[in-house]
Amino acid sequence: MNPQLLFWIPAVLRLLLVMIGGAVIGAFFGPVAGLTLAFTAVTALAFLQLYYLNRLDNWLDNPDSEKIPDGFGSWTGVFARLYKMRRDDERNQMELTEWLARFRQAMSQLPDGVALMDDVLFLEWCNPVAQAHLGLDLERDKGMRVTNLVRHPAFMDYIILGRYDEPLTLTLRGRKLIVHIIPFENRRQILVTHDATESERIDKMRRDFIANASHELRTPLTVINGFLEIAASQPNLDLPTRQSHIKLMSEQGQRMQHLVEDMLTLSRLESADLPLHSEKVNIKALLDQIQREAAALSGGRHVFSLTVAGPDIKGNTEELRSAFTNLVTNAIRYTPAAGKIDLAWTETDDGAQFSVRDSGIGISPKHIGRLTERFYRVDKSRSRETQGTGLGLAIVKHVLLRHHGKLEIESVAEQGSTFIAKFPKSAIYYQSGQLDN
Ligand code: ADP
Repeated sequence: MNPQLLFWIPAVLRLLLVMIGGAVIGAFFGPVAGLTLAFTAVTALAFLQLYYLNRLDNWLDNPDSEKIPDGFGSWTGVFARLYKMRRDDERNQMELTEWLARFRQAMSQLPDGVALMDDVLFLEWCNPVAQAHLGLDLERDKGMRVTNLVRHPAFMDYIILGRYDEPLTLTLRGRKLIVHIIPFENRRQILVTHDATESERIDKMRRDFIANASHELRTPLTVINGFLEIAASQPNLDLPTRQSHIKLMSEQGQRMQHLVEDMLTLSRLESADLPLHSEKVNIKALLDQIQREAAALSGGRHVFSLTVAGPDIKGNTEELRSAFTNLVTNAIRYTPAAGKIDLAWTETDDGAQFSVRDSGIGISPKHIGRLTERFYRVDKSRSRETQGTGLGLAIVKHVLLRHHGKLEIESVAEQGSTFIAKFPKSAIYYQSGQLDN
């Protein structure tokens, strides 16, 4: 039925009832009694309306769906509808609060910083990453102008010029940040910050590596080209000179070959696509062979000792052979004749370790932390004279990383060094142990 009729019919009926009642009483007890009754009833009805109006007024001061009053007459419908509206409102608000909490949770999980600002750059909200990147504190800085909080000339220029279609790169608090401002909804702006420190570091490493590798390859190539030019321009050189030139050229050729081999090994080890193929490594057999090869390389100039007192491990034999050989070869190359080189495989509280101790030239403490960087050498000419590529310890570090191990270096200049390859307990091979691939 039409809601207007639903409202008016009962109201008119109530008034009619009062009038009929008054008329009936008037007929029996006289007009004064009838009018008095009608007046009293209309006044009572009016008070009833005022009473519910007052209750509505009170409820509006503190609108809680649970406390909504019960009604009488038309008020029943009014209160029922108010109750429904209030419940819908509460539900919407709850959904909105939940959604906002989820949104904030999602924003706080983002790896990038996000800050919301109004059209004049007053901070409204930001996630924890933005706080860390820009040095903000949401509680303290909310409502403040972002240009007063991030005081960096490049950032100021970026805001003044307003060229937001291009991101801004700036160094802030020791981090390289890529900052982007995105205007939205007319009166709001989002500021997004991305930490590019790590990718910049990797980029720099790659650039340095290419520069170093090219430099390393250029030297032997220049030597070989020089001798080839001599050979072309002076075809009648005597035999001993020609032979010495050929010997020098083949040495440089070998140097290039070592360098390329080491570069390939390193790039293979660094490749994330290459899983470690694990097997049982027979440590005794491996170290016996390495010691035999070392003795041959030393040509009797050094005194060797080998102790194998630890368990076998799980790992890749060829990778470990390459790492251990690099350590032993270095000991030979950096230890003068008659020096001592002790190789030891032992079990430790934390797992097992291979140590190579030499009585060689040693390393001063300032170099020790950088020895595993590619192409880092304490003495370039000594490294080259002994066929060094500058990549040996970088290879060792990567092999150990792939075996969840680490390299420790102890050294005293002029007295000798100890290089220790440490493996965790989980690498030890037990007879019943499962192999991890
Ligand atoms: P390289 O081919 O130059 O030996 P490595 O990466 O193997 O390259 O070693 C880096 C540098 O560490 C070497 O150039 C050398 O200065 C130093 N070094 C490595 N092993 C020893 C050692 N046993 N004694 C002294 N210095 C060493």
